[in-house]
Amino acid sequence: MTSDSEPVKAASGMMRRLMAGIGRGVLDRLYPPACLSCGAHLEAADGLCASCWSRLRVISNPRCPVLGLPFEADLGPDVLSAEAIADPPPFQRARSAVVYNDVARTLVSQFKFGDRTELARFCAGLMVRTCGELLEQDAILAPVPLHRRRQWQRRYNQSALLAREISRITGLRHDPVLVQRSRPTRQQVGLSPAQRQRNVQGAFTAHSGFLERSGGRRIVIVDDVFTTGSTARAMTHALRRAGADQVDVISFARVVPGADSHI
Ligand SMILES: [Zn+2]
Repeated sequence: MTSDSEPVKAASGMMRRLMAGIGRGVLDRLYPPACLSCGAHLEAADGLCASCWSRLRVISNPRCPVLGLPFEADLGPDVLSAEAIADPPPFQRARSAVVYNDVARTLVSQFKFGDRTELARFCAGLMVRTCGELLEQDAILAPVPLHRRRQWQRRYNQSALLAREISRITGLRHDPVLVQRSRPTRQQVGLSPAQRQRNVQGAFTAHSGFLERSGGRRIVIVDDVFTTGSTARAMTHALRRAGADQVDVISFARVVPGADSHI
């Protein structure tokens, strides 16, 4: 003999499933899954459409062991790019996930200026997949800091969001106050390489308790775009002055000379 409550339970279970289905449908209508770059409709959220994926240029080996610039051919592990030989950087290794081209530029500008903070997860995931060699062992992630006035205007620091996501994926520690911007700087966009260098020279200071905070571990600077490297160089100098031994740089996108990347 069945109790009276069983048909009621069955009906309420069906109702719940129905409501959940409607809930999902409503959510999809309010926020339909869309390509993170061009906004085209997608079946699943958090990705790019086929066309944008095909235009995103992921950087893989062979590449310059110092600057991470992609090479056309594999010339062996010790061959450096002309740029790394002409102007050796103070950091050990720089790596980026993608070439800064039109798709990468759209993603970065939406992430940086468009309040699309959900892009941090996508960009960080790609950085972990393509730059894993920098994210091994006991390193500390140090995002490029914004001056507090700019952070207040923009409300968030895109590099700090990237560092937090990379930390979530890899388990590495991230420390957004390890380096501070000690003076405001002009936007680097539109400046020549020499102007960029002057603009950020001496703009960074390591935390006064740097050695205790870092414990002598390798530092990985996290940035959204690596353009001429002047920001990474200035930040590395600040870290070195504070006693850092090994400094690497990871960024989402990188300007590659000769590729379709306009600064
Ligand atoms: Zn797209």
